[in-house]
Amino acid sequence: MAPLILNSLEKRFANAAPAVRDLSLTVRQGRFLALLGPSGCGKTTVLRMIAGFEQPTDGSILLGERLLADAATMLPPERRNMAMVFQSYALWPHMTVAENVGYPLKVRGVVREKARQKVREALSAVRLEAYADRRPAALSGGQRQRVALARCLVTEPDVVLLDEPLANLDRHLRQEMEETFREFHARSGATMIYVTHDQSEAMALATDVAVMSEGRLLQVAPPEEIYARPEGRVVGGLVGQGSILSVRSNPGASRRLEWLHLREAILGCDRSQPQVDVLVRPQDVVLDAAGIEAEVTSAFFEGERYALRLQIAGGQSLRAFSRHPLRQGEIVRVVLQSGWRL
Ligand code: ADP
Ligand code: MG
Repeated sequence: MAPLILNSLEKRFANAAPAVRDLSLTVRQGRFLALLGPSGCGKTTVLRMIAGFEQPTDGSILLGERLLADAATMLPPERRNMAMVFQSYALWPHMTVAENVGYPLKVRGVVREKARQKVREALSAVRLEAYADRRPAALSGGQRQRVALARCLVTEPDVVLLDEPLANLDRHLRQEMEETFREFHARSGATMIYVTHDQSEAMALATDVAVMSEGRLLQVAPPEEIYARPEGRVVGGLVGQGSILSVRSNPGASRRLEWLHLREAILGCDRSQPQVDVLVRPQDVVLDAAGIEAEVTSAFFEGERYALRLQIAGGQSLRAFSRHPLRQGEIVRVVLQSGWRL
């Protein structure tokens, strides 16, 4: 099946720095890619170029061998066999749920009995069979989102594009909808591209995470890989709740740093070594009498544990967890079990 290929993609709007720069990415058929990055980094612009609502200033977009867009070519959205799910759902208020879902089939002239069957299947895929005759106004936010998904499912798109679809929903509903997206992906077999600024959402949903910053693609990898081996400060700072320490260490050493090496690097004994950035995750910071001294600068109860901020040698700040209450100003000792050189 056809992969979606972005080739040195570039988008410049008038009088502004490029919104997307030299972005190359291949998404194999059936993958679920999360496009992750802070607000304003160019995620929506990438999605709109894939969908056919914006034309690239440079570079190209292909589905397999088929050229969809470049600076001279622009296949219209309806000829790309893609579906875009908007944050606002874009449902017709005067139509029932079944009519909304069946609308794309009606436009395509699919015969009635066949269309009915497909609508039934799509509604069952998002568990809304019982709501077929309701109007959108009589549904919750999550249910409306599922109608929008069902409407996209009936057209059997090659690629489904979602732009922060859960941003308007509360946390509980978001978790429920994440489940719906995973099921939807498994059922449809479509390639999915899911834009979000929420790293935990990206990690929980996607088979691959692509991290963007300031129009550029920084790293693409499965969630576990992005988490364990982030490339550079921006990616390291975006995934997990790690602290980034600036320490003195031999850049030729292994990127995974053990406690004894980290201890030396933090205490900065060897001035001849260059400064490097090391990511330390809070769960790897353990209270231990054999550790280095740290002052608790803040502590608050999260429900299952206390989230701490510690200040260590050189004034650097470190996040940690504790099962026991600790007070601000208290002096403790911590071992950093592991770090990752960025
Ligand atoms: P994100 O979705 O990651 O928040 P966007 O793709 O919406 O980012 O925006 C990236 C940059 O491109 C921003 O600086 C934004 O202001 C700019 N931009 C987006 N769309 C337009 C447009 N139609 N005209 C001019 N600038 C735009
Ligand atoms: Mg956006």
